[in-house]
Parts: sequence; C-alpha cells; structure tokens
Amino acid sequence: MKKIGVLALQGAVREHVQMLEELGCEAVTITRAEQLVELDGLVLPGGESTTMRKLLDRYGLLGPIRILAEKGLPMFGTCAGLILLARDVVDYESHLAVMDVKVARNSYGRQVDSFEVLLSIKEIGEDIPAVFIRAPHIVSVGEQVEILASCDDKIVLARDRHLLGCSFHPELTRDTRIMEYFINVVVA
Ligand code: GLN
Repeated sequence: MKKIGVLALQGAVREHVQMLEELGCEAVTITRAEQLVELDGLVLPGGESTTMRKLLDRYGLLGPIRILAEKGLPMFGTCAGLILLARDVVDYESHLAVMDVKVARNSYGRQVDSFEVLLSIKEIGEDIPAVFIRAPHIVSVGEQVEILASCDDKIVLARDRHLLGCSFHPELTRDTRIMEYFINVVVA
C-alpha cells in the first residue's frame, strides 16, 4: 500500500485524503516535519499560497519539504500547491522553488473567479473535469518539463520529473484519473 502525505495546513485537504483512500492508498495528513517519514509521495493542496507559506515557515516545514523534493520524493501540487512548488512566481517571491516552471497567480480574471471545463490531457485522457478557483497558470517551463494540458492557451498541468503540478482542483470532482496518474506513473 502506498503511503501518501497530504500537507494539511490550509485548503482542500479532506477531499485529497478521500480520493487517495478511494484509490487504495494510505493518506497521512502532514502538519509537522516529524511526519515527513516513509512517504511514497506528497500532495500539496490548493488554498492561498501566501497563507500557506506563512504556515510552512511557522511550522518549520519549508526546508524539510524542499529537501525531500530535491532528493526525488514525488509531489503533486494543485492550484496554490503548484505555486508552492514553482521555481518562479510572477511578481511574488517563490516558495519551495523546486519545479522548473514559472507561474502567474490569479490568471483567469475577476469576473470568472471560478469555473469548470473538460480538459484533454496528454497521457491521461479526454473530457477530464477541471475546477478552477482563482487559479494560477504556468507561464513558461524548463527543458525537461512535459506539458500535459492547456486551457485557453495557458499551460495548466505539467510534469517536471517526479513533480506534477496543476492549476486546478482535481480533488473537487469525482474523476480520479489525474490522481491515478500521480500514484501509478509519477510515484510508481
Ligand atoms: N489564488 C490562490 C493563490 O494565489 C490559489 C487559489 C487556489 O488554490 N484555489 O495562492
């Protein structure tokens, strides 16, 4: 059984835990550095990246998570989680800075703060529902980064080796295909 941590400082934690358990994983909520042991992967949920950064600093989690990412622990960042992983954030400081992408925050305008679309995703499938909530997008990617999906010409899902990041919230739908890809292909 794969043991997957879910960073549980803020944001959509329970939905990730439920989806991971539904897929036969052991899901562990992470609030302290000592819990970051014997994990096969780590999910960084959506929420508010500046708030999450403050909490990562307060609980001494930023350094330990960065070291694990640098050592190759598979991680999946959704929405604010993608912002935490990104090497660069337009107009803001970066956080973990481990995934070779540049992201921009709140990319989809005020009047459409949240919306749902069906995406066609390379290697994963067609008609995959994606919920965007004040979502970021990926502005540019490093050489080894694989772009898996775009929405309105903006990159919204990419993989940098063992790091997967998406702009939207797969855990808020009943479709488990992206999480299955993380567990079976990225964590493997
Ligand atoms: N707008 C948030 C941020 O910039 C991300 C939103 C989300 O995770 N749903 O941190």
